[in-house]
Amino acid sequence: MSETTILILGGTAEAVKLASHLQAPHLRVISSLAGRTLAPAKIAGEIRVGGFGGPQGLADYLKAENVKLLIDATHPFATQISDNAIFASTTVNPIAFVRLERPAWLKKPGDKWVVVDTLTQAADAIPSKARVLLALGKQHIATFSKRNSVHFVVRMIDPPEAPLDLVDFELELSKPGTVEGEASLLIAKRITHIVCRNSGGKASYAKITAARDLGIPVIMLERPRRPEIRTLPDVESVIGFVRETLNSLGT
Ligand code: NAP
Repeated sequence: MSETTILILGGTAEAVKLASHLQAPHLRVISSLAGRTLAPAKIAGEIRVGGFGGPQGLADYLKAENVKLLIDATHPFATQISDNAIFASTTVNPIAFVRLERPAWLKKPGDKWVVVDTLTQAADAIPSKARVLLALGKQHIATFSKRNSVHFVVRMIDPPEAPLDLVDFELELSKPGTVEGEASLLIAKRITHIVCRNSGGKASYAKITAARDLGIPVIMLERPRRPEIRTLPDVESVIGFVRETLNSLGT
């Protein structure tokens, strides 16, 4: 039986889980990471790290590696690589393509959400003298630089390479924790507001539960509007799609 190559565009917990479930003798499973995290999670199978050099670079890579199935399992807010994947999947023929995207969080009773569409709207929604837990990627911090009457607690996993462009802030170098851990952080830092993105999933939901329990408002950045492509919500349904695709390829 010939080997079929699958490329997973990763950087999420779902991508790690998927790579582990797809390990099989007749499959070559390559996981691709951007290389942003200093200590990424352990991933089963082959790993490549770093950008492809734009959409055409990704298309060239798919051809060069004879990829038959492309799975975009990147983060809901990582729109550039997802756009590149759409381009590459329509350029390279034949290739099967699917997006794995966890559903967004839904507001529950007790949640005090201020829903915004852009980072600028998020920055404008913070009241003066607030103490804000900023739970965003480091590339999104600059939008808040003009809010000089706000104290920011900036949560990051790895320390920033460049100084942060904020007037009044402290760094909180940690990963999202349990509801109890998040509640302790919110209380210890006297947080009055959280700014975060509607990432969905379990890993970073504890802060939302803790905020609900403590009555803390969350300024929630909605997901960007995306082109309509075949999208599945979880690893299990993508595994089903992979099986169907392999059957149709006769592998
Ligand atoms: P992005 O803005 O969509 O992508 C920027 C560029 O980074 C892409 O054009 C591509 O470079 C490269 N890239 C991104 N993901 C890649 C991957 N999986 N493999 C190879 N190259 C990749 O992405 P981002 O928001 O910076 O996120 C980077 C990575 O972190 C993604 O893999 C994502 O799943 C993960 N992540 C992102 C977030 C978030 O909040 N955005 C949160 C958690 C994890 P080239 O054009 O040169 O190919």
